[in-house]
Amino acid sequence: MNNEQSETANAELDYDAIIIGAGMSGMYQLFRLRELGLKALVLEAGTGVGGTWYWNRYPGARFDSESWSYGYSFCLEVLEKWNWSEHFAGQPEIEEYCNLVADTLDLKRDIRFSSRVAAAHFDDASNSWRIELTDGTSFRSRYMVTALGLLSSPTMPRFEGVEDFNGVWCHTGEWPKEGIDFDGKRVAVVGTGASGIQAIQEIGKTASQLTVFQRRPNWCTPLHNSPITHAEMEDIRARYPKIFQLCQETAGCFIHSHDPRSAFDLSEEDRLAFWESLYGSPGFGIWQGNFHDIHTDREVNRQLSDFVAEKIRQRIHDPKVADMLIPKDHGFGTRRVPQETHYYEVFNQENVELIGVLDTPIERITPTGIRTTEREFEFDVIIYATGFDAITGSFDRIDVRGSEGTTLKDKWQGGPSTFVGMMVEDFPNMFMVMGPHGALGNQPRSIEHNVGWISDLIGHMEMNGLKSVRAKPEDVKAWHDFVASKAEGLLSNEVDSWMTGVNLNVAGKEKRQLVRYSGTAPEYRARCDAVAAGGYAELEFGGTELCPPSAARGHESAANETNL
Ligand code: NAP
Repeated sequence: MNNEQSETANAELDYDAIIIGAGMSGMYQLFRLRELGLKALVLEAGTGVGGTWYWNRYPGARFDSESWSYGYSFCLEVLEKWNWSEHFAGQPEIEEYCNLVADTLDLKRDIRFSSRVAAAHFDDASNSWRIELTDGTSFRSRYMVTALGLLSSPTMPRFEGVEDFNGVWCHTGEWPKEGIDFDGKRVAVVGTGASGIQAIQEIGKTASQLTVFQRRPNWCTPLHNSPITHAEMEDIRARYPKIFQLCQETAGCFIHSHDPRSAFDLSEEDRLAFWESLYGSPGFGIWQGNFHDIHTDREVNRQLSDFVAEKIRQRIHDPKVADMLIPKDHGFGTRRVPQETHYYEVFNQENVELIGVLDTPIERITPTGIRTTEREFEFDVIIYATGFDAITGSFDRIDVRGSEGTTLKDKWQGGPSTFVGMMVEDFPNMFMVMGPHGALGNQPRSIEHNVGWISDLIGHMEMNGLKSVRAKPEDVKAWHDFVASKAEGLLSNEVDSWMTGVNLNVAGKEKRQLVRYSGTAPEYRARCDAVAAGGYAELEFGGTELCPPSAARGHESAANETNL
């Protein structure tokens, strides 16, 4: 930040609140702060709303939560008129939905697009944040809400020569709006996570030659997507309150809830029949609606993994290729399960080749393609589906400094620590929607909760003339201990993935860290809500200057939606 002098206590604020990011989190946060009568601005790096659904416009990008369980539950006006065309809608439709919400609620007038935040510094004297963009423009606000997304900082592999490639190249998370033509092209895809798998399915249809560079395979199961008829949509609309209620009750806010039985409560025949029916059902049922002990019991997990491995073998003609696509280093469901539509069958096509880069590592990118230790490949297009610097990565890319200049990077060295996933010790008046150690799962459900909690806290401060709030160290520690206790015994926490903080493309993220809360969403929400119900005893407030009642600020709510 250019201006490092201490601010005066009377420093003028440009805004009551600045929100960083205009994805699902930032849009709803803006709506709620307007309802409080606050003057709020959203800073967004892109040129449109939607966050994840704005940036990830690669072919095949689509929901893997049921469309109708994903939309905002608070925005009745849009629920009443919006029709999802498929049970798992594609990116263009999701982006259109986000725009419809933004336009219906007139949100865009308070969103500053093409505005990437470079730095955010808290000033103790004035209890305010000074937020600076990469172009040097800066703003001052009382509150700062980060709505950065968990998976929004794409990471490129550390290959030599990436920039030397003469063809077209791109990361799935930074897809050009004009699209990329694969028709008759020789295409490489590096990476086989959920993004790569969705892209491979589509690119394989038109590329003359598709070469997939896989490091470690993932366990994928069929999405079983289908269109939604008019009658079905009307039925869904009538059931929205029940659908959203169900999502409030499940561990991951999906419509699927774990079977309370142990897999061993059933005979082998019944167990396999149950898995067969889950494999044939749409969505995450086989992961989120399975026996609870697939996540904790090694033997149950092994049996389920064997079941899915057999499905993969049945779908692939060449047993060697099938073997390459079956994970050996982790059990089913211990990493995020990509959902697919004919993904495995792509590898039966004449024009598709699978290269295992653990056996024949990529040496470098050349001007004409990719060189492995074994071969030289020529390509017209290289797609990097190499994932994100997840959860903390988007914070790391901003120079965030809290009270007395404490940097967030230093604070989180060795792993993040937060209070309820939404606040950080020494970072007053900063709130994180979907921050580290908060609930994950079907994101809009958790976003709506987080935004509600943050808005209630800001409302409490405004009503009581409080100028600062900070998390107390003992409560941050207690939250960390709670999150750590929830990680115990889960097989997923013994595996390298973005959910355990590992990204080999990012220096310092080679080892597992406790980056996510892995308990249930209802328990998470209950703990957060108890803090609010208890009058925020865990937080330390400062300043008692009386503010005018929020309604007097003259920023009317843009719309009159109520919660379902
Ligand atoms: P990802 O799951 O982290 O996958 C990245 C892939 O790139 C992995 O296969 C990884 O291999 C590979 N890779 C990374 N660096 C490499 C290198 N240097 N050389 C070779 N391979 C390399 O990322 P993602 O696929 O973008 O998905 C991230 C998350 O986004 C998902 O888990 C999901 O939560 C979310 N997502 C959601 C949807 C949806 O809702 N529909 C769609 C896409 C993504 P290793 O496995 O060996 O590291």
